[in-house]
Amino acid sequence: MTIGVVGGGQLGRMLALAGYPLGLDFLFLDRSPSTPAGQVAPLICSEFTDAARLAELGSRCDVVTFDWENIPVDALRVLTGRCPVRPSLAALATAQDRASEKRLFERLHIPTTRWHSVESRRELTLAVQRVGLPGVLKTRRLGYDGKGQALVRTPEEVEEAWVRLGSVPLLYEEYVPFDSEVSIIGARGQRGEIAIYPLCLNVHAQGILRVTRAPCGPVRLQSLAARYLRGALRHFRYVGVLTIEFFVRSGRLIANEMAPRVHNSGHWTIEGAVTSQFENHVRAITGLPLGSTRACGHSAMINLIGKLPPRAQLLARPGVHLHDYGKEPRPGRKLGHCTLVATTARARDAGARRLLAELAPDIRIP
Ligand code: AMP
Repeated sequence: MTIGVVGGGQLGRMLALAGYPLGLDFLFLDRSPSTPAGQVAPLICSEFTDAARLAELGSRCDVVTFDWENIPVDALRVLTGRCPVRPSLAALATAQDRASEKRLFERLHIPTTRWHSVESRRELTLAVQRVGLPGVLKTRRLGYDGKGQALVRTPEEVEEAWVRLGSVPLLYEEYVPFDSEVSIIGARGQRGEIAIYPLCLNVHAQGILRVTRAPCGPVRLQSLAARYLRGALRHFRYVGVLTIEFFVRSGRLIANEMAPRVHNSGHWTIEGAVTSQFENHVRAITGLPLGSTRACGHSAMINLIGKLPPRAQLLARPGVHLHDYGKEPRPGRKLGHCTLVATTARARDAGARRLLAELAPDIRIP
């Protein structure tokens, strides 16, 4: 059985590495010939909008999935009738537009930020009046890792943000002075079975995820987040892995966004859970039974950004695993990650602090 993956980044690469032991084959489609996935699997090199090459992917594969949520949905429609696409294009389309995402959260009674869509300077003034300052102005589409957004605290910053971002549809939302950020990741299989991982506690800097620890957080938040995720999985009759990210403020969850795919905050599951998020995504989309999402120990995942440390230095530490995505170093680029698995939360946190002191001294974890 061959899985087609549109997008050949590190997420695709880790999907392939999880699927090979199950006897599955992979074929990627990406714009660049030197992507992380292209180093471990065959690749069709083409634009994401090239209908002929997408159709070729569909004809050579049994199921198609994606590793990036900004693939043009209309282009993927060429696959309809040729090859199943999992998760569905409906879920992908919702996740591509922050306004559709907010409406979905509201419809499913998942608490989210107060927000207003903004298509003109007048609407922005109105949105700021209604939602208040401080707030965050975000592009509705194509934003990731903090790109396409501006924090606004004063009327002058409202104007600056408008000048910077105002050429495309936007959304203005309240700024949440959160206590922490968490994410919940789960999979739904083709028979409707659902498996949910322990809650992940995430630290971002400049909009980029830096550290995840799991399992983390009180049982009450875990069950609430799992309830919200189950609602979204059932709503779409979703097949595959879905992630929702939340702010935590005064013990309450406030949904920030969802990702219709495996997620950076779930990388710890490779070594830290019975079945990784990558394997469960592959199992779900190929109709295999889902694996257990139980954590084995206490994990911390640290993103390696801009520069990779010497391999030997990292691996000399007990319990540390390295994942090098095979990318050219560039400032701000996610080049790999490392995961530390410990037997207690305390040992994990102490180990993670030692690693951070070496790898990213600007990042502190509570
Ligand atoms: P996003 O691209 O929406 O996931 O935003 C990236 C990161 O920016 C989030 O994980 C937060 O750390 C921060 N952020 C985004 N929106 C807000 C908000 N409304 N209030 C506070 N922080 C935010």
